[in-house]
Amino acid sequence: MSRILILGAGTAGTIMANRLRRRFAKDVAAGKTSITVVDEDPRHIYQPGLLFVPFGVYRPDDIVRPRRMQLHEDVTYKPGAIEMVIPEDHAVLLKDGTRLPYDVLVVATGTRIAPEETEGMMGPEWHHAVFDFYTVEGATALARKLSTWRGGKLVVNVVEMPIKCPVAPLEFSFLADWYFTMRHMRDTVDITYATPLDGAFTRPIAAQHIGDLLDRKHIGLVTEFNAGRVDNERKVLVSWDGRELPFDVLVTIPLHQGAAYLKATPSLVDDNLFVRTNPATLQSTAFPDIFAIGDATNLPTSKAGSVAHFESEVLDDNIGHFLAGEPLEDGFDGHANCFVETGFDQALLLDFNYDTEPLPGRYPLPIGPMTLLGESRMNHMGKMAFKWVYWNLLLPGHTIPGIPARMSMRGKLAPATT
Ligand SMILES: Cc1cc2nc3c(=O)[nH]c(=O)nc-3n(C[C@H](O)[C@H](O)[C@H](O)COP(=O)(O)OP(=O)(O)OC[C@H]3O[C@@H](n4cnc5c(N)ncnc54)[C@H](O)[C@@H]3O)c2cc1C
Repeated sequence: MSRILILGAGTAGTIMANRLRRRFAKDVAAGKTSITVVDEDPRHIYQPGLLFVPFGVYRPDDIVRPRRMQLHEDVTYKPGAIEMVIPEDHAVLLKDGTRLPYDVLVVATGTRIAPEETEGMMGPEWHHAVFDFYTVEGATALARKLSTWRGGKLVVNVVEMPIKCPVAPLEFSFLADWYFTMRHMRDTVDITYATPLDGAFTRPIAAQHIGDLLDRKHIGLVTEFNAGRVDNERKVLVSWDGRELPFDVLVTIPLHQGAAYLKATPSLVDDNLFVRTNPATLQSTAFPDIFAIGDATNLPTSKAGSVAHFESEVLDDNIGHFLAGEPLEDGFDGHANCFVETGFDQALLLDFNYDTEPLPGRYPLPIGPMTLLGESRMNHMGKMAFKWVYWNLLLPGHTIPGIPARMSMRGKLAPATT
């Protein structure tokens, strides 16, 4: 009997559970393999939809479905909070005292925002003038605020990298420009995007394109701004080097950390509680029977649902190899694929991996129909269609035709080398 235990039934955990169920369908039916998933939250949230909640495009009900319904009936769903992983005993302990032994463990508990780690962030202005939009509660409170706001200084700030979906705060700024334009009050709103990076994005060519777009939309860019504290009384965001950004509304992307229970197993994680993971095989660098996927890893690629999807194809094979006693494949190349909504029914598309930065061009074929690093309505339609793709193709663990796990150079315009 092979016992596969998956921690977390979010995007990555759900995809993995459904893929592995398909791979081991006969063994699962015969009781030779079990697939168990643990999660503490009965709601499955379509997180890319959170971006649209503050602007009234989606309501919370549009992006939340019951967790159990996303898992195949042959997958055992165990609701509950995880207490700790005990690698030496090949077991996981839940907070209610249940002990779950495993032959293979997959850590897919994602990342959590930690606003409490920034001084003053959760002070008296929290969800009055200081908001997140990475939670249903935060996005809903922000929607309420924006719908009656009369204008002023809007500051969008990334506290520290890495964050999940690194383009989401940029998209928020672009959508704010669109939203206030449509409400005929753009001239009363001063939008500033403040980032700890030295440009608008992590990679140079995309940073240039996105920086130009911010400029065109009259969104101020403040770089190398490392937020240290929020002064609630003066409504000022203060950086570690003493620079101040006054705000009427602060939209923060707080510090991100791995799940808190991982503190109890320090050999498994880095200082931010992200699982130390082999970048190509997705195996833990500390324990051969532990693997990680999605936002929970410490891999130098985006924390994005698309990444979890590409990783799942590699991990599915590698768990098969591991259980068969075969060598693992170096199959994951860091492939990430992100639509960047820019407002007014337009979006950009980024496609990159560990070695190749986002480049201009066409996608997925040399003739498109999507445009890489250029705005198009087709990209916007792709962004909005992603919700259907998520529930109906990604979560059930299907491979998407024409979009392989490994990044392709097809259609990309490589910069001239000197
Ligand atoms: C605003 C926003 C916009 C985004 N836009 C995009 C986009 O356009 N495209 C894209 O590809 N990605 C996007 N993402 C990122 C994407 O949603 C995540 O990268 C993806 O959900 C990661 O999947 P995951 O399974 O690793 O983590 P999650 O989906 O977050 O799942 C982790 C699960 O672990 C569970 N868990 C954690 N700790 C415990 C515990 N102690 N006990 C039990 N259960 C626990 C949680 O309840 C959760 O269900 C966006 C994210 C946000 C917030």
